[in-house]
Amino acid sequence: MKFQSTRGHSAVVDFREALLQGLAPDGGLYEPTEEPNLRSIIRTLDARTPFESIAARMLSALFPEEYSNEKAAALAERAFPFSPALRELGEGIQLLELFHGPSCAFKDFGASFLATAMEDFLLDTERRAVILTATSGDTGSAVAHAFHRRKNIDVVILYPSGRVSPLQEKQLTTLGANILALEVDGSFDDCQRMVKEAFVDEELRRKVPLTSANSINVGRLIPQSFYYLYAFSRLKLKTAGELVFTVPSGNFGNLTAGVLAWRWGMPANAFVAATNANDVVPEFLRTGIYRPRPSVRTLANAMDVGNPSNFERLRRIFETGSLAIRSMLTGSAVSDAEIAATMRRYYEEKGVFLCPHTAAGVAASEKFIRREMVGQGIVATLATAHPAKFLEVFEEHVGVTPEIPERLARHLTMEKVSVKVENDVEALKRELIARYR
Ligand SMILES: *Cc1c(COP(=O)(O)O)cnc(C)c1O
Repeated sequence: MKFQSTRGHSAVVDFREALLQGLAPDGGLYEPTEEPNLRSIIRTLDARTPFESIAARMLSALFPEEYSNEKAAALAERAFPFSPALRELGEGIQLLELFHGPSCAFKDFGASFLATAMEDFLLDTERRAVILTATSGDTGSAVAHAFHRRKNIDVVILYPSGRVSPLQEKQLTTLGANILALEVDGSFDDCQRMVKEAFVDEELRRKVPLTSANSINVGRLIPQSFYYLYAFSRLKLKTAGELVFTVPSGNFGNLTAGVLAWRWGMPANAFVAATNANDVVPEFLRTGIYRPRPSVRTLANAMDVGNPSNFERLRRIFETGSLAIRSMLTGSAVSDAEIAATMRRYYEEKGVFLCPHTAAGVAASEKFIRREMVGQGIVATLATAHPAKFLEVFEEHVGVTPEIPERLARHLTMEKVSVKVENDVEALKRELIARYR
């Protein structure tokens, strides 16, 4: 499998280059040039196939030149010491729990695979990389955990001082070793602007081998398709009808990965793109008109995105694809009031804690079942984060807080180590050159 830019003005590259470059030189996103038909492999997956075996089989099928069966198995084993899990919620909804990794969010799957594959590529070519990323909370901790102690790789994470939750800050600032947390005197937008400016600074790029690990990287996108196959392998015999996926979405990487799995041959009847009040994509799917706008703050803050970075990929799939694809995708925007009510109801009626993002997904699944589902199908709803990452939301809207798992709690007692930087790209440049040239 090779990759081309969504903008069509960059050379076609292999998986290694696409992964190391992140963004294509013409500013577009990399997408596969071809659509392999993997139906015969997907058919062999059953309810006992471990997640890492699903990942290994898909890897060697997608990238036969890069990954022999043995190499794929070894890579999958190192990248995925954790697995998704399914949990029945009742009334036709199954939760696909994606928060059993080190940082307790689905982003662990993509970040851990990217880190493992990148470490191998760099060791092969004796290159070094400095990962530069800005975070408002969740992405940074997944990236930090995934790249911790990887050879030939340093990680620099910019976060807005005083504007991430105390637990998130501890997740970013207590790992040490090759992870540097830069505490910026500014907002998340300032951090993101500094990172963008750093990436286009020629002097800096000559001196420091900068790489990105953000969600547009194909090294994060491709492995996210594997857990859809995990769900399919478990649910195909359980469903008496349709199999639908609901995906709580912000930048739409997760949804795009699900659509890829379907295009490679995974049977599915629909994808529901669940958003919070930031509903530019549901609006696009309904009207065909894309109107990006500034994001508004909601309870599901990892989905507060007004101009989703994966939209270019999604739009091409939607507009160049067949009618079948258009009818597969539906949008569903969920208000904060519905999110809070769903969190309360599931706690009170079933004792289940749903994180605010997952609650948006479950609310969208309930609506879909009420309005569109014929027969007794299953709506697999992606549970994108562990509820304990959002204690403040539970305190305010449910009145009871979930237990904090040990892998999160241990950060709370560790000492924060960060370096303060001014809200200015020149300050960031000086810091990077001094440390990594
Ligand atoms: C990042 C994130 C999302 C949104 O995922 P996208 O791939 O950007 O659509 C949803 N929920 C949680 C908890 C997240 O961290």
